[in-house]
Amino acid sequence: METLFDKILAGEIPATVVHQDDDVFAFKDINPQAPVHVLVIPKKRARGFESLKDATAADAGAFIAGVARVAEKLGLEENGYRVVFNIGKDGQQTVEYLHAHILGGRKLSWPPG
Ligand code: AMP
Repeated sequence: METLFDKILAGEIPATVVHQDDDVFAFKDINPQAPVHVLVIPKKRARGFESLKDATAADAGAFIAGVARVAEKLGLEENGYRVVFNIGKDGQQTVEYLHAHILGGRKLSWPPG
């Protein structure tokens, strides 16, 4: 099933792209929950976090490394940041394309709601 993020990756729906390389594509969340709120998706399609259990170590590693590269590029390494995966119904996942939220630019509260 083609999702919103497939369309953003294909350039069919506009987004503010902050980074892309061979492995990942990153763009600003349209409804930011922090001064920096960026979504990172793997270029190689996966449905959600749970699909990583069937991924090769190379693909899973490439995605996670890509998330870390994006956070560095966003200038978040010095003060820190949070990476969130919303998974399924209780996790409030709304788009069925694997994505990590990078949140930063302010002190984040804990525990999350
Ligand atoms: P999730 O709830 O984890 O599935 O996250 C989906 C995220 O996509 C939400 O934080 C939305 O604000 C974000 N979103 C929805 N539509 C767009 C869009 N057109 N461009 C950028 N982000 C979007």
